[in-house]
Amino acid sequence: MSVHSKLYEGKAKILYTTDDPEVLLADFKDDATAFNAQKRGTILGKGQINCSISSQLFKQLELNGIKTHYIDSPSPNQMRVKSVKILPLEVVVRNIAAGSLCQQTGLAVGTILQPPLVEFYYKNDPLGDPLLTRDRLLLLELATAEQVDAITNLALQINKFLISFWWQCGITLVDFKLEFGLDSQQQLLLADEISPDTCRLWNTAEADPNRRVMDKDRFRRDLGNVEDAYQEVLQRVLQAVESQN
Ligand code: UDP
Repeated sequence: MSVHSKLYEGKAKILYTTDDPEVLLADFKDDATAFNAQKRGTILGKGQINCSISSQLFKQLELNGIKTHYIDSPSPNQMRVKSVKILPLEVVVRNIAAGSLCQQTGLAVGTILQPPLVEFYYKNDPLGDPLLTRDRLLLLELATAEQVDAITNLALQINKFLISFWWQCGITLVDFKLEFGLDSQQQLLLADEISPDTCRLWNTAEADPNRRVMDKDRFRRDLGNVEDAYQEVLQRVLQAVESQN
């Protein structure tokens, strides 16, 4: 596969075109950003770790009937993906209250959310990724009503699978963000990544509110040992996948 030109550089990944117009190459970077890129840094090895974790999760999701953009991973920090038009939505699923939900509503961190909450944010950096209502989303034509319903169902299905997968890793899935895209046939595919950058993951065996954190909150909140936490998550994912085979 010959790689052509840089198509797009985001905060965590670079996308390249390939000789196949339906295939892109995603290069995962060690760069880390938080708070709408006001905080910037590097998490050593993050590109390889997040690419590996995402690849394993996409493979498992495909085995469970969820269609994703994942094709394969030709090197530790590179993923070949189906070219899709990304919908400008950040789809957040929450099982436990944390982060912006607590800041905006006053709910206590750790409150169990049953049923899980599915939220849509407008993927728009200049506007600060605002929370959308269904009507605003339709008003802005960010997706059709049918797509919103399909995405909500998929997000809940993915959540069920991920809760159980992370539980096998000794990890509690607090919340996570998904992105979806449309392929050339207008088929809805799960895209982007699923990693400690995009999920809140708590070590189930640890009650201490700082020590239990195994995700990007270690970077956001300057908790230290960021690389170790990401590495530990990858090891647990690989063990869980191995124990299934
Ligand atoms: N998230 C993400 N990218 C974003 C915003 C949020 O991956 O641009 C993830 C975040 O890591 C967390 C979940 O979505 O797992 C919910 O994030 P929240 O709305 O609480 O925002 P935050 O507290 O990160 O500002």
